[in-house]
Amino acid sequence: MENQPLSIIRQRLMVERSATVKLLQKQDLHPADDGDLGFSPPPTHGQDDEAERVAFLEINFAQTGSLQDYLKEIDLALSKCDAGSYGICDSCQAAISPARLDINPTARFCINCKRKLEENG
Ligand SMILES: [Zn+2]
Repeated sequence: MENQPLSIIRQRLMVERSATVKLLQKQDLHPADDGDLGFSPPPTHGQDDEAERVAFLEINFAQTGSLQDYLKEIDLALSKCDAGSYGICDSCQAAISPARLDINPTARFCINCKRKLEENG
């Protein structure tokens, strides 16, 4: 698998970022209350990447705290794009596999280091 051009990665991160910011604003306006188990209809596929990401993030980052952390990770990944160090493991400086970055564009560690970190708790 070829590395994706940085411009595509950056664009993806920007969509991710604006979706995260949008969701943070939404949570500010409507703090989640425990009784709300309503589901919103799924967004129209392919028409609105951002709406799709908002829906995804809403499921995966239910707590505002983790969303804010995620926003920081996105900013870090964007600054790495600028610095030319995007896709390089923070720990061992090995290239992170494109497949891994495709799943998790803000990944900071290669799979080996990630495993080690998780083992060490
Ligand atoms: Zn590593």
